[in-house]
Amino acid sequence: MIKIDNITKSFGSLNVLKGISTEIGKGEVVAIIGPSGSGKSTLLRCMNLLEVPTSGKITINGQEITDPKANVMAIRQQIGMVFQHFHLFPHMTVLNNLTYAPTKVKGMAKSEAEKKARELLARVGLADKADVFPSRLSGGQKQRVAIARSLVMEPQIMLFDEPTSALDPEMVKEVLEVMKGLAHTGMTMAIVTHEMRFAEEVSDRILFLDDGRLLEDTPPKQFFQNPKSERAKQFLEKVR
Ligand code: ADP
Ligand code: MG
Repeated sequence: MIKIDNITKSFGSLNVLKGISTEIGKGEVVAIIGPSGSGKSTLLRCMNLLEVPTSGKITINGQEITDPKANVMAIRQQIGMVFQHFHLFPHMTVLNNLTYAPTKVKGMAKSEAEKKARELLARVGLADKADVFPSRLSGGQKQRVAIARSLVMEPQIMLFDEPTSALDPEMVKEVLEVMKGLAHTGMTMAIVTHEMRFAEEVSDRILFLDDGRLLEDTPPKQFFQNPKSERAKQFLEKVR
């Protein structure tokens, strides 16, 4: 589904990604982990062209998105993204947060968008919050709304950049549960996370980044029990 072929990314003279290659299959869940500043967010953002790689190729569903002639808007519609800080529209109700993009971008009828939105709110456990404004929600509820808002566009791929890092500890679990449920539906997912237990339990593969390089690309069991690289060993000692 996603093929990343030797991509690099520089900001001025700072080389942030130094030649990353990997593939993510349909329905696969990949956890991207590594120290702060290693390039995890940049790699994720390259997958939906929020950042344009300096060199290398990314192909999604056989379509090269790094081709300068690629239709960026069409590509982004296939890829949902959830950020650390929710980015909900504060002046819209929860329901309108969900119906805005499908009606404005996809031209979906309002009634159809609302029906879908309510189904998704029920799926993330927030059926009763449709008519409230985001300011009335807890962090965990906001993040579940953000996930539902992405899903309403029927993406083929979901990208998550530290979706639980801004949450109080007691709210982390409710968001991880929603993500786990999504993984079980066969969604293709790439998740930057510091939740090691979640990564071990839910992902099919771990990508370990260090200083812009992909040091490990392995099944979670192998990564957590027997990491190849010294850097991954040190990292795991610190975070566990
Ligand atoms: P991570 O998500 O692993 O913490 P990032 O991908 O956010 O790492 O950042 C990797 C490096 O790239 C950091 O040194 C960061 O400061 C730098 N960086 C990220 N985005 C930009 C940008 N837009 N302009 C300049 N430097 C950036
Ligand atoms: Mg980051």
